[in-house]
This record gives sequence, structure tokens and C-alpha cells, in this order.
Amino acid sequence: MDGLVHIYTGNGKGKTTTAIGLGIRAAGSGMKVLMVQFCKGSSTNEENTIDKLKPDFEIYKYKQICKFVWQMTPEEKKQMEEYTLHLFNYAMDSSKNKDMIILDEIMAAITNGFIDMKLVVEFIKNKPSHLELVLTGRNAPKELIDLADYVSEINPVKHPMDSGIMARKGIEF
Ligand code: ATP
Ligand code: MG
Repeated sequence: MDGLVHIYTGNGKGKTTTAIGLGIRAAGSGMKVLMVQFCKGSSTNEENTIDKLKPDFEIYKYKQICKFVWQMTPEEKKQMEEYTLHLFNYAMDSSKNKDMIILDEIMAAITNGFIDMKLVVEFIKNKPSHLELVLTGRNAPKELIDLADYVSEINPVKHPMDSGIMARKGIEF
């Protein structure tokens, strides 16, 4: 089976959790899944669950600076670029041994200037043919949308943050 390329984008809730759901289905069918999380803090609660699914479903992240990009010093930005490249290279190096790779929040890494979109384009164009590739994050660039096979845009109709309900553990993070 040839692998295809998925994008979950848009401003609504459900991009990362949908990609995780897809990963769980794939792992259940015997596929080996890797999710690499970009631009994330040191821990996310999905990690606690996915760690129990090793080696069928693995998660990889790297300690990140938890700040908005406009609050970062030039040194911190440089460090984020290094972390991002490390994560991206880890995904590329794993691509022969995995059936599905999820690049969670890769769009944020591109938008914030931590990685050159051309590297992502090259990865998509040169990926092993069996590999199912899933990209998430707001503001997917047109170049990536053009290369993808599935593109789902999740739009917010309502979100509780609009009525002042803050992020809740187990639901938002
Ligand atoms: P999830 O991880 O829950 O699937 P997501 O990946 O689609 O969400 P992100 O852009 O990664 O969303 O943002 C992380 C969190 O931000 C979400 O869990 C979430 O509920 C919150 N969020 C998403 N959309 C909105 C919105 N329109 N307004 C306010 N907060 C939002
Ligand atoms: Mg997300």
C-alpha cells in the first residue's frame, strides 16, 4: 500500500488529537507509528498514554523553550532552530523503519521561522513510498496543501475560551 500525505489545519480544536486518533488506528492494524512534536513544552498528557503503546506507537519530542516567539531572545530563537532541526532529522532518519510519521505542529515550526519549509517539501517529495505522513498545525502553507492527499481544515464554530473557560488538563493539554 502506498503511503499518502495528510494535513490537519485550521483554527479550531482537534488537529493534534485527530492525528493521535489516526496513529492509534494505524498502530492497531500493525503499523509502526512515530509522532514527533514540534514547538511543545516539556510534557503533554498524550505522551503518558502513548508511552504505554511502545514500540507500536512512539512519541518523540525535545525540551523546548515555552515562550511566544516575539518574547524570545535571538539566542533562544537560534536554539529553537537547532531543536527543530534535530526533531526533523530524527523524523527523517526514522522514516524507513516506520509506517506512519506524524509531524505535530510542524506548521507552527515553519510559521515561526524555526525550519525552512523547503526541507518539509523535500521530505514529502522524497519520502519512502510506503510511509503515511501526517502534518498538523494552523496556517498550512499552500505549497504543502498542494502536495498533500488529505487536507482537513478544522474551523471553530464555538470554543469555551471565548466565554472565559481556560485550558483544562486532559482536554487541552
Ligand atoms: P487538540 O490538541 O486539542 O487536538 P489542536 O491541535 O487543534 O487541539 P492547537 O492549535 O495545537 O490545537 O492548540 C492547542 C489548544 O488550543 C487546543 O487544545 C485548544 O482547545 C486550544 N484552541 C484550539 N482552538 C482554539 C480557539 N479557536 N480558541 C481558543 N483556543 C483554542
Ligand atoms: Mg495541536
